[in-house]
Order: sequence, then structure tokens, then C-alpha cells
Amino acid sequence: MGSWSPAGVVSHTGAAGLTLGGGMGWLSRRFGLTIDHLEAVELVTADGSLIETSPDSEPELFWGLRGGGGNFGIATAFHFRMRNLGAVTAGTWIYGLYRARAVLQALADAARAAPRELTLSFNVKQAGCTVTAFTQVPLEKALDLSAPSEA
Ligand SMILES: Cc1cc2nc3c(=O)[nH]c(=O)nc-3n(C[C@H](O)[C@H](O)[C@H](O)COP(=O)(O)OP(=O)(O)OC[C@H]3O[C@@H](n4cnc5c(N)ncnc54)[C@H](O)[C@@H]3O)c2cc1C
Repeated sequence: MGSWSPAGVVSHTGAAGLTLGGGMGWLSRRFGLTIDHLEAVELVTADGSLIETSPDSEPELFWGLRGGGGNFGIATAFHFRMRNLGAVTAGTWIYGLYRARAVLQALADAARAAPRELTLSFNVKQAGCTVTAFTQVPLEKALDLSAPSEA
């Protein structure tokens, strides 16, 4: 799957706001936050200066940018450490809303035993409740795929 850095679970959120806020996503259980992969930020400050911040250059400002939001200037470039991932699998199951209790129980049980390579998310929508799994190991190794029993 090429080179990755952890980002959000929804692809249309902006990389800048997400990174400046910390950034948590499908890879975070295994690799941490987006800011854990941030190596440098180019920033235009209020007086118009363009500065590079990193652990070695303006380190306190760099520290503040890693979660402090848009309070310090306009970030014009982000440099990330990338990771190589192998194959990943993602899938969504949709259940009738009346099964929400059983689905949530099954999800809680699965989460307890889940390896770091597996991330699960639960949503309630008009069409029903959904469980989405994203895994970097084969799905059958990451998750018991037997259907949740009726509530
Ligand atoms: C549907 C949805 C799903 C989300 N899912 C996730 C998720 O999975 N993980 C997660 O971590 N977060 C998630 N978020 C939160 C999201 O990361 C924040 O809302 C983030 O601020 C969005 O970034 P943006 O650039 O699109 O936002 P904007 O609203 O454009 O900006 C947010 C803040 O950052 C500042 N800002 C934006 N760009 C810059 C820049 N270049 N330089 C300086 N300041 C800047 C803005 O001034 C503002 O204060 C989600 C949000 C939504 C709406």
C-alpha cells in the first residue's frame, strides 16, 4: 500500500487542521497520532516571517504546533515521517438498528482481544448501525467474524 502516515478516519478533513489538532485515525492504535510523525512545519508568523520549526529549530514553537491548533501562524508545509505498510483490509458491516445492543456487545468483546493492527469503529445511521474494521493483518486473524447473536 505504499507509504503512510496516520491521518483521520474521514478523508475529506483538511490535513492542516487535523495535524495541528493532533490527528487520530485508522493507523493510530498501532502507530500513534499524526503529530507523532511530524518532523517539521514551515510557518508564516503574524509579522510575515517564514520560519522552519522542528525539534532542532524553534523547538518550543514546534512543540506548540503539535496539538495547539491554528494559534501560532499559518502553516504552509508539513514534513512527515512515512511508514511502509503491507496489504490492508477494510470493510463495513451494516446491521438493523434493532440489533444495536448485540452489535455493541460483540464489538466490546472484540475490542478487548483486538491486536494493535485492528481498528474498529461503530456508527448509527438512518439505514442501521455500522461496524467498520480496518486491519493490517488478515481479517480472520484480527477478528472473530461470527455474527453477533440476537439481542
Ligand atoms: C466529519 C469529520 C470527521 C473528523 N474525523 C477526525 C478524525 O478521524 N481524526 C481526527 O484527528 N480529527 C477528526 N476530525 C476533526 C478534524 O481533524 C478537525 O476538525 C480539523 O481541525 C479539520 O481540519 P481542517 O483544516 O479541515 O479545518 P479548518 O476548520 O479549516 O481549520 C481548523 C482550525 O485549524 C486552523 N488551520 C487550518 N489550516 C491551517 C493552516 N494551514 N495553518 C494554521 N492554522 C490552520 C484554522 O484556522 C482553524 O482554527 C473530524 C472532523 C470532521 C468534521
